[in-house]
Amino acid sequence: MADIIQLLPDSVANQIAAGEVVQRPASVVKELVENAVDAKATSITINIKDAGRTLIQIIDNGIGMSDTDARLAFERHATSKIKNAEDLFAISTMGFRGEALASIAAIANVELKTRRSDNELGTQIIIEGSKVENQESVSCSQGTSFSVKNLFYNVPARRKFLKSNTTEFNHIINDFQRIALTNPEIEFKLYHNNSEIYLLPKTNIRQRIVSIFGKRINQNLITIESNTSIIKITGFIGKPEYARKKSGEQYFFINNRFMRSPYFNKAVLNAYSQILPPETVPSYFLYLEADPSTIDVNIHPTKTEIKFEDQQAIWQILHAAVKQALGKNNIAPSIDFNQEQGFEIPVLSQARDVQVPKVEIDPTFNPFEQKMPSFKNPKSSKMSLEKDNINNWESLYSGFQNETKQRSDFSFISNEDTQQSITDSNLSEKYFQFKNKFILTPVKSGLMIIDQKRAHERILFEKYLDSLSSESIATQKSLYPKTIELDTKDHALIIEICDDLKCLGFDISDFGGNSIIVNGMPIDAGNQEPEQIIDKFLNEFLSSEINTKSQAKEKIAKALSKASAISSSQILDSKEMREMVDMLFACQNPNYSPFGKLIVSIIKTDELEKRFN
Ligand code: ADP
Ligand code: MG
Repeated sequence: MADIIQLLPDSVANQIAAGEVVQRPASVVKELVENAVDAKATSITINIKDAGRTLIQIIDNGIGMSDTDARLAFERHATSKIKNAEDLFAISTMGFRGEALASIAAIANVELKTRRSDNELGTQIIIEGSKVENQESVSCSQGTSFSVKNLFYNVPARRKFLKSNTTEFNHIINDFQRIALTNPEIEFKLYHNNSEIYLLPKTNIRQRIVSIFGKRINQNLITIESNTSIIKITGFIGKPEYARKKSGEQYFFINNRFMRSPYFNKAVLNAYSQILPPETVPSYFLYLEADPSTIDVNIHPTKTEIKFEDQQAIWQILHAAVKQALGKNNIAPSIDFNQEQGFEIPVLSQARDVQVPKVEIDPTFNPFEQKMPSFKNPKSSKMSLEKDNINNWESLYSGFQNETKQRSDFSFISNEDTQQSITDSNLSEKYFQFKNKFILTPVKSGLMIIDQKRAHERILFEKYLDSLSSESIATQKSLYPKTIELDTKDHALIIEICDDLKCLGFDISDFGGNSIIVNGMPIDAGNQEPEQIIDKFLNEFLSSEINTKSQAKEKIAKALSKASAISSSQILDSKEMREMVDMLFACQNPNYSPFGKLIVSIIKTDELEKRFN
């Protein structure tokens, strides 16, 4: 029998490697910008067209390449950054595997122009699918410019796998921000379809954070600094009142490289425990420095997880550093959790005046003793422990969100009550509607009152977030196509987020001019007219604060939950009320609306009895 093993041609090997290095346009941006940083550029310009599908251009003013180097750069394992295995342990540059350019050239059309300062002429190389089509001398400015066109043109499967332009561009922004946050001394410019997205002048880290995330963050940053033999930590953490709803501004860097670390994230969150508004996470920008030999250097170029020799010690140091920084700023309250009676904690209200609500706790409460309700929604059991914890610590927070007055009258919902309500709801029909606005229902400890509109917002919000993150297409209620005319800005916005809206059940297409056609609407929208719901949606969407682009989905879900929720004057029958209560307590966070407003309150039986004394 003949031998059957063959060596793959380089072009095929490169395409396979490309699958690992280049997952999406953002990977190309990351690799090329990192190369520019490694080349000691002081100014880097990034031009993106169609979220990188059509063009990714990176222009730097770094050291440039000689004719030979320019040609060699595209070979696999061609790198100027390590010479031998020992070098691996002292890596200070971003790249070192020499894979990126070979990979990119295998799956796109690439044009490179580069010139070193001591050469009069530069060189231009054109490569298509790993094949050098042309190399010639050209005059060009010092530094390097890469144009990557038609990404994945020869890998249709990968091209199809790309998400909407909004999603892909969000990935680019994320990678861009990570590099910009570690290189404040470099000027960055980012353009998308010729419009300017970021213009970041050379500065220090603090100002770089401000130029990326907006002026408001400036007075909300607390400096952090801790220097130990194992690890050095510098950077900033956000004040608790600046904490945001879920993710976005949490950054760890190790030796100036972005890293993901759920483990260290816990150390930070833990240090903030008890001082954050419900459902929020603090911002942080933490720069860790460790001896490279104590971390796993053999990291894959696209991986952001990193192994440390001394994980646990670093956890402790980090936790202590954050706590200390918060303490120095008089933010962390000193709470004695072993105290058996009620205690007082300062709570930071949004209006910035500090109130001191009285809080009752149940000393016998044990989150691990709870039985889970028999409830159909699989989410509720999966999240049970998490929800228990949230409910438990949230109970310390009555008085937040300007609800002090109401809440000092009522004690806060406990887990037991939540479960009791669900059990009740399965058994009987004890629901009453009050002023067509509140749902009242008896629970073990008293009378539970639910704001129906806020409850519905919460239910829809979590549902929409789910659909958006799974990117599944929701079923649509078909309707006679409706044409709606919008102004230019609203029209552009709707078209931009059209894919996300599809996941939520809208079927919208561009009608040209400033008009759209609505062919389908989310089922939850009830019998509202398309104009009405789009109008409410746009209103809410545009009035909410513009954060990072990565929070766009949450913003969409929030705005639509508000637009679709039932009104505060809708009559509900007892079946509808029961369903609403059931769905509410299947939510991850049934206590607050997506806008941070209180949903549930309980009048305790003994309070009621006191009134009749
Ligand atoms: P790596 O960065 O891992 O070395 P790459 O494939 O990304 O591998 O790049 C290969 C080589 O090409 C680099 O080591 C560097 O010498 C050269 N190079 C790439 N981009 C630039 C640039 N913008 N300016 C100067 N040299 C560059
Ligand atoms: Mg590289």
